[in-house]
Amino acid sequence: MVERVEEIKKILLKMKEETLAEISKAVKSGSNLPVGEPSGDIYDQASSERDRELGLLLGDREREKLRNIDEALLRIDEGEYGTCEECGDDIPLGRLKVLPFARFCVKCKSDIEKQQAQTKRFEEERAYSEIPFGEEEEG
Ligand SMILES: [Zn+2]
Repeated sequence: MVERVEEIKKILLKMKEETLAEISKAVKSGSNLPVGEPSGDIYDQASSERDRELGLLLGDREREKLRNIDEALLRIDEGEYGTCEECGDDIPLGRLKVLPFARFCVKCKSDIEKQQAQTKRFEEERAYSEIPFGEEEEG
């Protein structure tokens, strides 16, 4: 048990390094945009705006990943890593290697996803039925 967690910890630490490198790369490419150059072309401006937005989006995704990595590392330190939060079963090592942030076993995860899909559909239906119809004009 301890050995397999150590193995995952290595994977997570490596992932963290890579993610940090990705973030700094994204930040660098963002700050290297030619700012202040006299370019009257509105299309150039639009495309550099879009690039910056993409950079921000990437940053958010990478930051989210970093948060997941840190949480997983914390769970390792607390000895809670590798067990399903729903049923308490051990999560197979093969699954953890592919999905180091996995918090549920395959069975519980698919149950949760089914539930979420149902909830989402229910909310969408409710949102749709709440759209008011045009007021009837009296006249
Ligand atoms: Zn489970």
